[in-house]
Amino acid sequence: MQNLTAFKEYVSTPRKVVILTHFKPDADALGSSLGLAGYLKKKGHAVTVITPSDYPDFIGWMPGNEQVMVFQKEKPAPCANAIAAADLIFCLDFSSLNRINELGEMVRQSPVKKVLIDHHLEPEKFADFEQWDGTAASTAELVFQLIVELGDRDLVDSNMADCLYAGIMTDTGGFRHSNTNYRVFQTVADLVQRGANPYKVSKLIYETNSLERLRLMGYVLWEKLQVLPEYRTAYIVLTSDELKRFGSQTGDTEGLVNYGLSIKGIKLSVIISDRKDNIKLSLRSLGEFSVNEMARAHFQGGGHRNAAGGQSNLPLDQTVKKFLELLPQYKDQLLAD
Ligand code: 5GP
Ligand code: MN
Repeated sequence: MQNLTAFKEYVSTPRKVVILTHFKPDADALGSSLGLAGYLKKKGHAVTVITPSDYPDFIGWMPGNEQVMVFQKEKPAPCANAIAAADLIFCLDFSSLNRINELGEMVRQSPVKKVLIDHHLEPEKFADFEQWDGTAASTAELVFQLIVELGDRDLVDSNMADCLYAGIMTDTGGFRHSNTNYRVFQTVADLVQRGANPYKVSKLIYETNSLERLRLMGYVLWEKLQVLPEYRTAYIVLTSDELKRFGSQTGDTEGLVNYGLSIKGIKLSVIISDRKDNIKLSLRSLGEFSVNEMARAHFQGGGHRNAAGGQSNLPLDQTVKKFLELLPQYKDQLLAD
């Protein structure tokens, strides 16, 4: 953090802190938020973690989860009041305020100091303090780095370490994605030293499937995975009826997009699913091909070069048509190397 001394001074007195993370939080979003919450509580702050939506059961084990406030459209007052009462707001694992929906305007309007801790590309400038690094594999790493920069490494306990470890593990795809570097291993080694339990965390995250989720996965791989070798592209389209048929819960489609990318020769993989309010796209790529650019330019989204998301207000079939019609303009990039 550039203005670390000013930040250190600012948090040297107890504050009413709100920590916000993105819509449909994943393990890095929730893990970095709860890891940071654990630390700030130890430093004497009153901390509230707010999520703009619910999140999958497989991250519900994280210590501190029981105190998370989940924003509800039909009952916005509790979260709105907490934000209004805050005198310091942290924004974790997202960097454009539209990623937190209705809460975005509340944050923008708030007169208090804001802290951004994030690794998404092309961040919006709204924070007074920034721990931002687009080359970091996860936000959890940046939280740990900030705690270390503040001289408080020894305050990291096993609960906080498990939360942060979970964020790093999942954002690197279990230490397999191209963002897995020296710093990732150095940080997880430090976290294990502070009490993180890799076996426990990976079991809780990767091996707590419901039977319905496995059936959905089987159905998708058998019937729904489409491959376009001429564009080195794989895609999956899921209708709301299909999601309903498999009793799909938040998080059940997480990771499915990676199966497309695991096919030999495939460079771009996309899953397009019909959610209650809109159409959600999840995009993954290999190498130089930037799904951040694709999601930003065409689907009101963004993310990282090789992992991004977005949405569409068109009906499902028209969204699929739009996606397929985009491919010719990306053909040269998709076929390069
Ligand atoms: P996922 O496909 O797993 O939902 O998201 C992949 C990456 O893109 C994550 O880092 C996530 O935070 C980001 N992302 C997902 N949806 C959106 C979106 O609508 N807008 C932006 N800016 N980023 C997104
Ligand atoms: Mn992340």
